[in-house]
Amino acid sequence: MSKGHDWKKLATESQVVAAGRPEKKPDGALNPAIALNSTFHEGGPIGYGRYGNEAWSALEEAISVLEGGKTLIFSSGMAAISSVFSLLPQGAIIVAAENGYQGTTTMLKKMHEAKKLEVRFVNLPNTDEVLKALPGAQMLYLESPTNPAIEVVDLPVVIAAGKKTGSIVVVDSTLATPMVQNPLALGADIALHSVTKYLSGHSDILLGCVVTNDESIFERVEQARRYGGAIPGPFEAWIALRGLRTFALRMQRSQENAMELAKRLEKDPRVLRVRYPGLASDPYHERAKSFMKGFGAMISFEVKADIAQIDKMCNSSTLITNATSLGGVESIWERRRRWATESHTIPENLIRFSVGIENVDDLWSDIQSCFLAAKIN
Ligand SMILES: *Cc1c(COP(=O)(O)O)cnc(C)c1O
Repeated sequence: MSKGHDWKKLATESQVVAAGRPEKKPDGALNPAIALNSTFHEGGPIGYGRYGNEAWSALEEAISVLEGGKTLIFSSGMAAISSVFSLLPQGAIIVAAENGYQGTTTMLKKMHEAKKLEVRFVNLPNTDEVLKALPGAQMLYLESPTNPAIEVVDLPVVIAAGKKTGSIVVVDSTLATPMVQNPLALGADIALHSVTKYLSGHSDILLGCVVTNDESIFERVEQARRYGGAIPGPFEAWIALRGLRTFALRMQRSQENAMELAKRLEKDPRVLRVRYPGLASDPYHERAKSFMKGFGAMISFEVKADIAQIDKMCNSSTLITNATSLGGVESIWERRRRWATESHTIPENLIRFSVGIENVDDLWSDIQSCFLAAKIN
């Protein structure tokens, strides 16, 4: 695809604009085609729509440049995660988060109950706990920062330990994004994302990806997609690449807004605790600074009020949307424990806040009016 670039010399802002372009030629298109085909004339490298198409390749190239590995895209983040678990044989031991993303923990609990995998659930930010669980494990499945506790895992240390004990080390880097960390550069075998979130960035599609530098893992994950069939449509891939063009700008702005709002919330007497690694007071601040290139744009905060009031607060916003999901241009929040599958280690009064790219003072005014509307004072 895109030729003539030394990707390593380009910054993320330039990579997202330049990567995944069709070959330059007179009257050639700047953007890949949305190839709506289930099949192709015989004799070429693709052959059939479940095996590949131009829009997938373009998006895969762009994410590969950002993460420094080879990418396979999937129909959702969960499809990408499932393909990674499918690398493990029946009954294999996997070390994973007890309070990570609820979709992943729910799937792992079910696989554990069905004896498909033996899951050792640990508190990932507690490094000692992770190290103790590692012997005999075939996979170390990490997520950092964790969703929705916004806790930072000591990735350099636990990745190295996982490799040493022979695990395949996987990092769900959805909340961090490639602007903040590159798991493969930190030694992980696999980085994965829910592309639904920051990378595509507009809350309009679902998509996932697996990135690796290990040829054998790449082949096996490709086979899992080819025969498992969890493929995205060409249109979704195209829309994700369109969104990715502004990823660096969106992420910069969202991070600035998040830092400012975290500081204001921290000073607010109606707030019990703000979880944001960018705050000097956050227990994970030093750890985050030691290996992350930023602090992301996800804040979780606990409000001094009862549940009904907090639900009212979330529902009273006009600029911020009360909804699940994250990583879009629009600010979204929700009380996480409204979901039955959310880990009970997450406090009932915790609001997860995906900070968007709106004007920060407008967002702050919206938050203020929500406190008032819910009579929280
Ligand atoms: C949303 C999310 C997922 C799942 O991705 P989908 O695209 O919704 O399937 C996985 N991990 C994390 C951290 C997420 O936030």
